[in-house]
Amino acid sequence: MINDNYLEKENFKTLIESDDIGRVEDRLNVIDTFLSTEEHVTLEEFMGLLKDRGFDYEPDFVRLCLNRWVAHGFAQKKQFEGQPPRYEHHHLGKHHDHLICTKCGKIVEFRNDELERLQMRIAAERNFHMLQHKMEIYGLCSECMAKRSPLIPLDTARTGERVIIKEIIGGRGMKGRLASMGYRIGDVLEVISNDGQGRLIVGHGNIRLAIGRGVAAKLIVALV
Ligand SMILES: [Zn+2]
Ligand SMILES: [Zn+2]
Ligand SMILES: [Zn+2]
Repeated sequence: MINDNYLEKENFKTLIESDDIGRVEDRLNVIDTFLSTEEHVTLEEFMGLLKDRGFDYEPDFVRLCLNRWVAHGFAQKKQFEGQPPRYEHHHLGKHHDHLICTKCGKIVEFRNDELERLQMRIAAERNFHMLQHKMEIYGLCSECMAKRSPLIPLDTARTGERVIIKEIIGGRGMKGRLASMGYRIGDVLEVISNDGQGRLIVGHGNIRLAIGRGVAAKLIVALV
């Protein structure tokens, strides 16, 4: 990418000089810093990278630089669910997709030609003129999965997971209460939403239920 980066910087310099918007030197410093990382950075993280290099620009100036960078096709602004906007390089003609860990926020890039062709075929079969697409797969990365024990309380299960009830903890009262609500060992639940606070919404058969966190903590589950 080093060569690409050099060409991109030269290309950008020509464009901003023709835009005649001033602060060319500062803008080139911002671009240099942006090209020095292959990460997907938030504005805040990017401000940190600039500080590391001794640049102390106003966040508004940096944001405008990045947005111009996006508008000119050198960067892409990505809005992954549950995360602030992120910027990444946009190398012309080089498309990729993303796996996003909903626990630690890690982003893994991938490209699969078979999947790309399949998407084009699906659009073509419907006479749909495809302009662009994004494939984002949300889940837990290998490190987060390795740290997880096989049995977890339901309140720590992630949105989108299908789990099976393995154990109900608590006294007879709690067990009776959960049984009366229809929860039994071996039942499969689908976590429809769990944002870490307030009630969880779970699918139980074809019924959607709201469960308080206290109750959810008593249901010990495993991944299906
Ligand atoms: Zn793709
Ligand atoms: Zn992770
Ligand atoms: Zn990416």
